[in-house]
Amino acid sequence: ITVREGKGSFLVYSPQKYKDPAWAPVFYNPRMKCSRDISSSIIQAYARLLGKESLVVVDALSATGIRGIRYLLENTAVSKVILNDLNPRAVEIIRENVEINNVSDSVEIRNEDAVRLLASLRGIDIVDIDPFGSPAEFIDPAIRSLKHKGMLCVTATDLPPLLGKFPKTCLRKYFAKSILTEFSRELAVRIMIYFVAREAAKLRRTAVPVFSFYHSHHIRTCFIVLRRETHYSGLIDSIGFVWYNPSSLDRKAVKLLDFRLAGNEWLIGGPLWISNLASQKMVETVLEIYREREQNMDLCKNGEKIVSLMLSENEMPPFYFTTEKLAGTYSLKEMTTEETIEKLVNAGFRASPTHFEPKGFKTDANINDIVAILRTA
Ligand code: SAM
Repeated sequence: ITVREGKGSFLVYSPQKYKDPAWAPVFYNPRMKCSRDISSSIIQAYARLLGKESLVVVDALSATGIRGIRYLLENTAVSKVILNDLNPRAVEIIRENVEINNVSDSVEIRNEDAVRLLASLRGIDIVDIDPFGSPAEFIDPAIRSLKHKGMLCVTATDLPPLLGKFPKTCLRKYFAKSILTEFSRELAVRIMIYFVAREAAKLRRTAVPVFSFYHSHHIRTCFIVLRRETHYSGLIDSIGFVWYNPSSLDRKAVKLLDFRLAGNEWLIGGPLWISNLASQKMVETVLEIYREREQNMDLCKNGEKIVSLMLSENEMPPFYFTTEKLAGTYSLKEMTTEETIEKLVNAGFRASPTHFEPKGFKTDANINDIVAILRTA
């Protein structure tokens, strides 16, 4: 059927026929009209505020092409749109819709994986990422494709993880733990902004969120991405944690750099990796090979020592202690690392030296046990 939306007409699979728009051969969801209406206005606002003309827009996951074609029809500042979809049937519909709306001169149609397409593009003004579910995999190549002060607009429809219903999935996709609160829709947007800001920062760019909203089972945020004049301090002051007390409904935003446990001296770092740093099998094999090679190759002297220390420390709990710091902090006589390890092992704990530091050791004893054992020495 043909529907009218904004300034265009579009051939789509009849939404009435499919219970979920994702089940149609080519996706079209009339309920996203409002999102497209707002997004088209954001493009106009971007052009006006930055005094831009002749904008090149990539609609990287186009489906019927409705979004990108509307951007073109409704914004004189847009001079070219690249419409892309991996699904060949979507590309057929996109072709028809480009014809129907008489915009073939200003449209380039592609049938590629969006990641590959974006990775091959440079100097783009605006990239729109509107996937099923999570946009996470598309953010890095989208940021790379943009010119200085280009705009990235991102939709996420995978709301259950972001809203705190599946915190483990959220951690996996966005490197953040979501929690259940009455303001989780806002948290979802904030987690997504954090994720995009990180993806930009690792590329030495700054993603400044300029428009964010929740509407009907999706969230959407637009960012201006700076390649120069980057504002790292803005990033550092803007990344933090939320504290929420479900009994009192009290909440706080705490900057990551200022993060402390309430009312005490603990410093908190991370998120970071807290499991093993290597595979035991890999380290064993490297050690074996190193020893074989040492006989007829000029290998560095320390190599074998580093690798064998890695082997002994790999399965210990994280974060080594040092004999020096323990002695200084608890007014103890400083023992050698070997003596310290021997004492801990004799007391029934696991302990190992570490390649990170000659005065360091790792152990499964806690700080109270360690201090008690070293005091009685
Ligand atoms: N932007 C469209 C709109 O406003 O109606 C909706 C896009 S729909 C939610 C997502 C589209 O992405 C689908 O048409 C799907 O075929 C396409 N797609 C999924 N994975 C893709 C990928 N890796 N590369 C390119 N297109 C992809």
